[in-house]
Amino acid sequence: MLVKRVLVVGGGTAGWMTAAALSNKFGNSPLEIRLIESAEIGTVGVGEATVPHIHHYNSTLGFDEADFMVRTKATFKLGVEFVNWGRIGNSYIHPFGAYGEDFGGVPFHQHWVRMRDQPGVGDFEAFSLPIHAARMGRFQHPDRDPSSLLNTYNYAYQFDASLYARFLREYSEARGVVRQEGKVVDVALNGETGFVESVALDSGERIEADLFVDCSGFRGLLIEQTLKTGYEEWTHWLPCDRAIAIPCPNDGPVMPLTRSTAQQSGWVWKIPLQHRCGNGHVYSSSSISDDEALEVLLGAIGAPPLADPNKLRFVTGKRKKQWVGNVVAIGLSSGFLEPLESTSIHLIQLAIGRLLDFFPTGEWDPLDAEEFNRVMVLEYERVRDFLILHYNATERDDSDFWNYCRTMDLPESLKYKIDLFRERGVVVNYRDGMFLEPSWLAVYLGQNVMPRAHDPLSERLSDADLIAAMADLRARYAAAAVAMPTHEALLAGMAAAA
Ligand SMILES: Cc1cc2nc3c(=O)[nH]c(=O)nc-3n(C[C@H](O)[C@H](O)[C@H](O)COP(=O)(O)OP(=O)(O)OC[C@H]3O[C@@H](n4cnc5c(N)ncnc54)[C@H](O)[C@@H]3O)c2cc1C
Repeated sequence: MLVKRVLVVGGGTAGWMTAAALSNKFGNSPLEIRLIESAEIGTVGVGEATVPHIHHYNSTLGFDEADFMVRTKATFKLGVEFVNWGRIGNSYIHPFGAYGEDFGGVPFHQHWVRMRDQPGVGDFEAFSLPIHAARMGRFQHPDRDPSSLLNTYNYAYQFDASLYARFLREYSEARGVVRQEGKVVDVALNGETGFVESVALDSGERIEADLFVDCSGFRGLLIEQTLKTGYEEWTHWLPCDRAIAIPCPNDGPVMPLTRSTAQQSGWVWKIPLQHRCGNGHVYSSSSISDDEALEVLLGAIGAPPLADPNKLRFVTGKRKKQWVGNVVAIGLSSGFLEPLESTSIHLIQLAIGRLLDFFPTGEWDPLDAEEFNRVMVLEYERVRDFLILHYNATERDDSDFWNYCRTMDLPESLKYKIDLFRERGVVVNYRDGMFLEPSWLAVYLGQNVMPRAHDPLSERLSDADLIAAMADLRARYAAAAVAMPTHEALLAGMAAAA
């Protein structure tokens, strides 16, 4: 094999997820996998909410769900609640699941758009089982039977990021990954190829490898500081550039969802875990001072903090290339899109998947890096557009921040999507990737982006038939949610069985 030694630089979520996946795939081969991390530098220390795709990562590595949840103090997540985004006083949930059923071969939302002003039709939210369950604080695992109502949704987790890294470290070390404590102070390049040959630690030790995975966080130690790859900045579309995170005790039932409450210059998150709640304020430093942002956060928490504020700065965007020569950047070293839809861990997972797909086994083939970079750009841009939609689709005019977001120029790719939806409710679809039709519908309709017209094929069904079918669906979703156990009872049972 061409690559005999892999060096992962960094032991945050990205580093340990990468090491665990590599050790799972190559555990029985002669491939040597090392990971360097520095306790002195530490990790970013946040990143607690996920999206359902994480099941694929967990199942590939063979994790037992109950064991994983107990050890990372995880909770179930059915979606994200957005409060005050479309306008102040408004709340909607972006659920991990479908809305309604496609009557007469026409997408459900087209019928809803047509009928929404009719008495008794109700909110779009009423046609989603995970939304009913989330609002009631209930949870049940989805059913595999496609005819079951419990087959209409998926779920993710919220967990303690440091416990997750520890969990992954144990898994990786048990499969032969060698962890080394130390600070990288120098990087040596091959004069001819430009490839990285080795890194030097503060202890004086030099470590050579064939393939380097840069998981060094925002600094991008190899991909940027050494290889000068360049960064494409997207702050003009996503103006938040700072965050403050503070944990606090749970102050009520542990709900199966993340909450994001829009503020005058950003938004505040609440992520309930088994043993505490994660909170943070993501904001734009050109609109609010750090002290004021901290005050907003403390006011929103309403409970005594469990630790000092963790202050973070970031620049939204991505590296121009994420695989260069023999360096692959994964995690914050590859770019950052703010955590509004909990997408960073998913982007880590995607990059790991592509690295495994294109793992160099023969000669170095530039096409491997090219395809890796093409796919990652596509994914970053899709997530970017979806995030921008939340800020742009608002009626808020109560601050300069919202006035800017509401009126800013959009990327062409997003403008096109919104125009198509506004015209007659068409959601631009893609087969793979994040945020498919139900997610876009959740934000469009949740933030009052209404199509001007509906699909005329909906009119093949009479008003009376549609109203009856919708009433039946709504009632069935509500009844199915009521029959679920409470999220708290389920977590307590899991902890007791551990
Ligand atoms: C405010 C905020 C909220 C977030 N919320 C979410 C969320 O809810 N969901 C989600 O999916 N993601 C979230 N993220 C993103 C998430 O935190 C990251 O994707 C994740 O933690 C991965 O970080 P990382 O491993 O790339 O970097 P880090 O955690 O920063 O780890 C970097 C590692 O590199 C090591 N290192 C750095 N330099 C050196 C050196 N010179 N020598 C040796 N070691 C070195 C460090 O010691 C550390 O181990 C959030 C991010 C922010 C900023």
